[in-house]
Amino acid sequence: MDRPASGGEVSLKLLPSPITDRLAQLAALGATEHGIDRRLFSAADAAARRLFVQWARAAKYAVEQDRAGNVFARRAGRRDGAAAVLSGSHLDTVPTGGPYDGAYGAVAALCALEELDANGIVTEHPVEAVAWAGEEGSRFPLGCLGSGAFAGLNDLATIDALCDDDGVSFAGARAATDGLLADVPVRDGFPVPAGYVELHIEQGPVLEHRGVRLGVVTAIAGQVRLAVEVYGESGHAGTVPMNLRRDALSSAAELVLELEAAAKEIGEAVLTVGHLTVFPNQTNVIPGRVLLRVDARSVDEARLSALRDAIVSGAARVAEQRGVRIETSVIEQRRAVAMDPQLRAAVAEAIAELGEPAIELPSGAGHDAMCVAAVAPAAMLFVPSVGGRSHVGNEYTAPEDLQLGVAALTRSIAAIDRLLSKER
Ligand SMILES: [Zn+2]
Repeated sequence: MDRPASGGEVSLKLLPSPITDRLAQLAALGATEHGIDRRLFSAADAAARRLFVQWARAAKYAVEQDRAGNVFARRAGRRDGAAAVLSGSHLDTVPTGGPYDGAYGAVAALCALEELDANGIVTEHPVEAVAWAGEEGSRFPLGCLGSGAFAGLNDLATIDALCDDDGVSFAGARAATDGLLADVPVRDGFPVPAGYVELHIEQGPVLEHRGVRLGVVTAIAGQVRLAVEVYGESGHAGTVPMNLRRDALSSAAELVLELEAAAKEIGEAVLTVGHLTVFPNQTNVIPGRVLLRVDARSVDEARLSALRDAIVSGAARVAEQRGVRIETSVIEQRRAVAMDPQLRAAVAEAIAELGEPAIELPSGAGHDAMCVAAVAPAAMLFVPSVGGRSHVGNEYTAPEDLQLGVAALTRSIAAIDRLLSKER
């Protein structure tokens, strides 16, 4: 039987990719003076998915969507009944997003299918590029909606009932804005892929700082979000002597500094108090109550649990010393997700083929890959973000780095296909 070349048996040519041009087209959808606002199932989001479908069809890939609103472009493999090697990211943004967070990985996956074509590579598995629905969680109060449904972490009935700030449900928004595209077939269920690889901008400063252009992700950090409420006593700013006060804001400030020091001491962990509400928030009134939200992350569960302990013990100490009451409650919690060691090795090998140095690093930000990892081996690659900027309109990655990332992703997909074929 005639066996055409499989990825890696030949070395792939470095090809110019339409990635920068396509990202520029997407950046026009939802553009505002503060960045890009392409929240899930907005008109701009629907237009972005339609563009993805249009590019995929122009390249003759079969396009399908699932009931969660995820869109797939499929390139056939030698064994078409086999599970797919899947690659992609999300097209939605935060309300003040940039052009690369998410969109880059979705479009790069499509470009990678085209590069496999241009190189005449036949894979064993079908390869699919996916645009996940609603990773950011900036419209409905849950992140990774599409990939979470795909991986069976959230059921569709629960997701359908979620409401945005205006009381519009996920199901209602999807119906109203062509969330399920009219001319795209809807597939049954959520077929489990053979493996998954996601390319993303780093959204942090590490690659730039280390002077390398590619990173292989070791794990996606676990995260705990807590609400901390400090109850002191309100009073007149002019009449209550300093030694008789139970100031909720001074107590909160002491706790914030203590938690910052604890995170530094624990190491390889980050902690942020980014949200503070002061009651009654008046210049001439001693603050009687303060609400803080704490976000703590680490790829190491032991460190994450040490951070939680530090929050609880810090709150108890400040409460005792300052005579205030402090209550803590967990808002959201998720475990760290390790990337698959074999897929990581395949990605590292693919990068070596390019002759490009790379480092390994953890991801402090959450990604669709952490959901997909629940059902299939998953890996991630990063390219640099200038200044570590992300979730802002002036997010930037150099065009050469975007191109290099696509080349690395194409080779990674071919290497993962080889790896998963050998295992059978
Ligand atoms: Zn993202």
